[in-house]
Amino acid sequence: MLTQNLGYPRIGAFRELKKASELYWSGKESLQHLLTTGKKIREANWTLQKNAHIDLIPSNDFSFYDQVLDMSFTVNAIPERYHEIAEDRNNTETDLYFAMARGYQKDGKDIIAMEMTKWFDTNYHYIVPEFHKNQKFSLFSNKITNEYQEAKVLGIETKPVIIGPVSYLLLGKEKEDGFHRIELIKNLLPVYIEIIEKLEKMGAQWIQLDEPFLTLDLSDEEKKAYHLVYDQLRKKFPYLKIMVATYFDCTGDNLGLAVVLPIDALHIDLVRCPSQLNDILQTSFILSNTILSLGVIDGRNIWINDFEKSLSFIQKAIDVLGEDRVMIAPSCSLLHSPCDLDNEKDESVLTAEIKQWMAFAKQKIEEVANLKKLASIKDPQKLAIALKPNKDIIESRKNSPLIHKPQVKERVRNISDVHSRRASAFKIRQKKQEEALNLPLFPTTTIGSFPQTDEIRQLRAKLKNGTLSQDEYEQKVKSEIDRSILWQEEIGIDVLVHGEFERNDMVEYFGEQLDGYVFSQNGWVQSYGSRCVKPPIIYGDIERSKPMTVKWSQYAQSRTNHYMKGMLTGPVTILQWSFVRDDQSRSETTMQIALAIRDEVTDLEKAGIKIIQIDEPAIREGLPLHKADWDYYLNWAVKAFRISASGVKDETQIHTHMCYSEFNDIISHIANMDADVITIETSRSQMELLDAFADFNYPNEIGPGVYDIHSPRVPSVSEIENLLEKALAVIPARNLWVNPDCGLKTRKWAETELALKNMMIATKKLRQRI
Ligand code: GLN
Ligand code: ZN
Repeated sequence: MLTQNLGYPRIGAFRELKKASELYWSGKESLQHLLTTGKKIREANWTLQKNAHIDLIPSNDFSFYDQVLDMSFTVNAIPERYHEIAEDRNNTETDLYFAMARGYQKDGKDIIAMEMTKWFDTNYHYIVPEFHKNQKFSLFSNKITNEYQEAKVLGIETKPVIIGPVSYLLLGKEKEDGFHRIELIKNLLPVYIEIIEKLEKMGAQWIQLDEPFLTLDLSDEEKKAYHLVYDQLRKKFPYLKIMVATYFDCTGDNLGLAVVLPIDALHIDLVRCPSQLNDILQTSFILSNTILSLGVIDGRNIWINDFEKSLSFIQKAIDVLGEDRVMIAPSCSLLHSPCDLDNEKDESVLTAEIKQWMAFAKQKIEEVANLKKLASIKDPQKLAIALKPNKDIIESRKNSPLIHKPQVKERVRNISDVHSRRASAFKIRQKKQEEALNLPLFPTTTIGSFPQTDEIRQLRAKLKNGTLSQDEYEQKVKSEIDRSILWQEEIGIDVLVHGEFERNDMVEYFGEQLDGYVFSQNGWVQSYGSRCVKPPIIYGDIERSKPMTVKWSQYAQSRTNHYMKGMLTGPVTILQWSFVRDDQSRSETTMQIALAIRDEVTDLEKAGIKIIQIDEPAIREGLPLHKADWDYYLNWAVKAFRISASGVKDETQIHTHMCYSEFNDIISHIANMDADVITIETSRSQMELLDAFADFNYPNEIGPGVYDIHSPRVPSVSEIENLLEKALAVIPARNLWVNPDCGLKTRKWAETELALKNMMIATKKLRQRI
């Protein structure tokens, strides 16, 4: 029986790659420094896995930015707009690569970056390949063979990891009409063959082709492409061992396809889809010689493995297939796990009791190796002894009073319809709110945050390291709030915000104040390029022991006669951007958070706040991979939002906010959230996203974003007027709000002031006209 790993985190345990990349981009360090940093990380990763006795160690899982971009680079899918960069002799291959990832603004050139989007249902973002009709491919970069060779020189035999050709095409986007990207498979496959041929000549024994699209809904053409590719590869390479890796969900309808592929090993994710094992063992798969790689260790979370449970999967597979046809592995690449729990040394941050329940990438590798050892123990008594330490930890987690709070579970159990319904229907609420709030037509507001200047970040850092007292800190934040209020009043915004200066991050800020959360010091995970996130960790039942934002909102409201919006993050977004418990369902955890937010909402109301915004930018990204599962998810997600929002009287106006998302296919659920006002990001789509609302006859009020906050560019008055006209064509005037696309925390004050002034002028002009 072999062990394997599908991919290891490449940022370095202390984000070495992030630091080196950013130094290189800013011109402060040489290319050599960056390349050496990458090399050191690869060597450390390989060595670690070798020392842990992993049989199949991945190579080409490293990347300076993104593995999909690497593939585009490898097969020369380099969009034409970058060709002039390649032709400039002053530029290296690395410069070309980063230009594709990040855009290029130098010597009068201004070339935009390739698009970026989410990697399946993770928080990792990849660079979207761009495809044209009849596109040709050729071998451009030798990254795959180079890395294989690099490991070999170190005496480490690796299994190159390559995105499978079908998934690679499906990850991309057609840049012109009249074809489907899957048609390019015949042009693409020869380059894959060329690469694999080289690897085989160099001595590679195994290759791993990642085909995560096997867990999504596939068209007939796409299914055909799978047969074509793997039949051809088999013909070309009768001896090389080819593994196909699936992950993130059940292969579902594609199971029949996956089990007949003429390959040497098939990897399945038993964390996301445990039922898959039984399903496979009932197919003709058992008559083949194909090895089954069991993804039993969660590559996307931070909890230790339940060895007994994993062993039962392994044993079941061995019983049917025999030991030689079973492999043990993490469920997916460990790219989505933080690096090393051993670096969490501060017990005041992460106590020993909680830490023992956790495993990061390095610990997961050890778990893989341990499972192999355990699986080889035949004597039940010896096995019981060997299993005991793990069993004790699992047991302590099941029963710990740190985790389980009966009063929280009880409250969730007692949720009923009344908790998820406002007192009256929207039409009645709207009237009452109009009377109570008396806002002008086309009320203006912003989404919450104002520029997070270096000065403000410094304040938080100083508070943390003790050079600033809590009192001094609060005084400084208050003066920032005062300044922003004066300024908002001056330009005439109707519904003010306090600016969120006291918040480091919209989820972490709440996590720090909720019971049931812990934080790591080094638990970084790559989000995209050099950007890493350190998700807070939900380990126990969530409870709010005291108000979290009321003091700040109340202070801000006391400084103005205008309405001050209370500002909260919604339960689904809090869940989505945290590491979550694996000992209860996501929906259960979300209901606990929803009740905590509900208490905060009602406390804000009691404190005199009349308008409260509950941000839910992450609702869409939580969608399951299979469409068939969407309704189930959306039902509980929307219910959680409603629970958080429904504790207030009709006159209190509830807002929600969502960033750029397609609403077409989920609009009925968005309407079902029943927020009095929804603000959304629409400017980049030129208000096209509003069509979904118009077609649906969306009844509640809407604030479509009138300018893009991702760029420092200041929109002109006429541009904003133009967008507002477009909005008015589809949204009743009574329901229309005016606001930017999203929060302004990443912007500078200079551009923010100009942009919002223009937004006010455009609104006033519109009011005069109507
Ligand atoms: N209220 C948050 C802000 O303005 C919303 C951020 C978001 O939508 N991602 O920063
Ligand atoms: Zn947003």
